[in-house]
Parts: sequence; C-alpha cells; structure tokens
Amino acid sequence: MGGGTALRQDTLERLDHRNPLVVDTRELGRRPGSMRKVSLDVPAPADMKIEVIGVPEGAPLELGLRLEAVMDGVLVSGVATVPLAGECVRCLEPLAERELTVEFQELYVYPDEDAEEDAPRLVGDLFDLEPVLRDAVVLALPLSPVCREDCGGLCLECGALLDEDPGHTHETADPRWSALQGLFGGSTAEADDNGASRADENQEK
Ligand SMILES: [Zn+2]
Ligand SMILES: [Zn+2]
Repeated sequence: MGGGTALRQDTLERLDHRNPLVVDTRELGRRPGSMRKVSLDVPAPADMKIEVIGVPEGAPLELGLRLEAVMDGVLVSGVATVPLAGECVRCLEPLAERELTVEFQELYVYPDEDAEEDAPRLVGDLFDLEPVLRDAVVLALPLSPVCREDCGGLCLECGALLDEDPGHTHETADPRWSALQGLFGGSTAEADDNGASRADENQEK
C-alpha cells in the first residue's frame, strides 16, 4: 500500500498543476454523466505555430471547456479563441491582427482504466490540455497566409511592394535594355566600339 502511494506521487509529479493548461477534474467526480463547464484565460505556450504564422508565446487564449465524466474517463470538449501573428507569404509584411477559433475534443482515460498505450490519460485528477489544443490550433493555421487575397507581392527584380507601385517597370533601368535600344537607333545610345557608322551619325547632331 505504501508502494502504491509512492507510485501515485511519482505520476502526479509529471503534470504540474501550476501549468495553466493542466486542468483539475476533482470537482467533477467520477460518476458517469456528471458535467462541469470551465472557462480559462491562459497565456499561450511556446511553439503553437508553423513557420509563417502562429500564436505568439504568452498571448491570451480564451478557452471554454466542457468536462463530462464517462465510463472510462473524462471527455473534454472545448473551443479556443487564439490571436495570431505572422507575415504575408507574398509581400512579407506583418499580417493585421487576426483570431482563430478552433474546436477540439479528447477523452482522458482514468489512470487505472485499460486503454491503448498512447491514449491520453488523467494523471491523478489532472489532465494536460496542451497537446490536443496545440494540434487543433496548428492544424487550423493557414499554410500560406496573405495580407489580402489580391496582395500583389514583391517585385522579383527589386523587391519593391507592387501594391504601392503598381505601374512599376524596370525596362529603362536595365543597362542591357538600354544597349539594345542603342543598337536599333535610339538617341540615348552611347558610342561603342562596334558601331562606327552610328557614331558618325551621332556626331552630325
Ligand atoms: Zn501581402
Ligand atoms: Zn522592381
């Protein structure tokens, strides 16, 4: 009996009740059918993101949870509203503030209940919401966020924002193009070694 208590202490220590995403189900009891609603305002954990967009660490998350005791565990259904920050994949400008709302559901099996080895479990009366929340949020993130659907992106030549300078062209600024204009008789041609006759023409002006 003393050994059992020690084991229970060990497993309890794996979940930190001070972690805001670790939820205590003690008040729910284990009577199937009992239900509790929990609202949480918690700071976002790290790494709830993909390369181009995500939830800034520490940003406020609003969570509404419904905890329901079922035969073999606690069924948790939830909705989370999270702020996002990122950059437009076309113009690389920061995105305007936006929010994402996701729903999720997970069954946390009681510690002494048979279940698949990797099934999420209660540890004592506690469960860790972070993995299911992270999965729900990350899967819902846009893979290629844009600041506007019609964002023009960047000029491939110079990197300028095309939306700010739509008529933007590089034809006259390109020295190779200027040289071609010269060959075909443009007045801006500079004298060059292989254009002796044209150099004469220029001198007549
Ligand atoms: Zn953009
Ligand atoms: Zn350009």
